[in-house]
Amino acid sequence: MRRLFVSVDMEGVAGVASAVSLMPTGWEYTAYRRWMTAELNAVAEAAFDAGYAEVIAVDGHGNSHNVDPDQLIDNIQLVRSSPRPMFQMQMIDDPSVDACAFIGYHSAAGTPDSILAHSFSGAALRSVRLNGVLASEGYINAAVAGEFGKPVLFVSGDRQTLEDARRYAPDAVLHTTKQSFGFRSAMSLPPRQACEALKKAAARAFAQPYGQPFKVEPPFEVEVEMTSQVAAELLGYLPWLERTDAYTVKARFKAMQEVRGFIGFVMSYMPNGQTPY
Ligand SMILES: [Zn+2]
Repeated sequence: MRRLFVSVDMEGVAGVASAVSLMPTGWEYTAYRRWMTAELNAVAEAAFDAGYAEVIAVDGHGNSHNVDPDQLIDNIQLVRSSPRPMFQMQMIDDPSVDACAFIGYHSAAGTPDSILAHSFSGAALRSVRLNGVLASEGYINAAVAGEFGKPVLFVSGDRQTLEDARRYAPDAVLHTTKQSFGFRSAMSLPPRQACEALKKAAARAFAQPYGQPFKVEPPFEVEVEMTSQVAAELLGYLPWLERTDAYTVKARFKAMQEVRGFIGFVMSYMPNGQTPY
């Protein structure tokens, strides 16, 4: 059985613009969930039309309880809740998956005028560098997929997100869902129409021959700049992490899978085992 892997985030979904409503306490969060779920359905429909038997979708936003299972079309296996070892890429290593798509994606922290740009956790991390290169979530996740020989076929988000995607998925179909005017403002079509356009673009992506998987050469040196000096200080107690300045720690890994786990750890670790989201 051939399955398509879809990593779903919320910030790049058409209509989503407010940081407040990205979380369950936000006044418009219920609508954001619905739009996110509809975009996943649209891309899954394109995948089924292209011959995939099933979609494995990973809810990779906030508390990982955003996509609404009640609204999903058939044959979408949904990965929910966290922590999990590979976070936004859980199940990418499954042998039945041969390619992936990133939808609702956003730019890395510090990208000017890009809607809700951040890296993994705006609360915990200021930036992530992989082998000296500033890395967005898409960049890291594509390198994880590449480690398992799987290319990224399709990416959706704002223009800046897609410019970034050219670095890790040059052969993919890149689809703009909205035009950003700043960190908190963007323009997009109504959700239903946005989903129609998304489905058409995804259909083009799934009809073309696979491009090359994104490969980053090991060893993988990861530099994580924390928002809290104390968080960096505590991480610096671990002898295998090097503290390079007040906010930053650096570590080396043999595999991208380990890198993904490490980033998940630094953004999620709570000594009481509770979720930070
Ligand atoms: Zn998100």
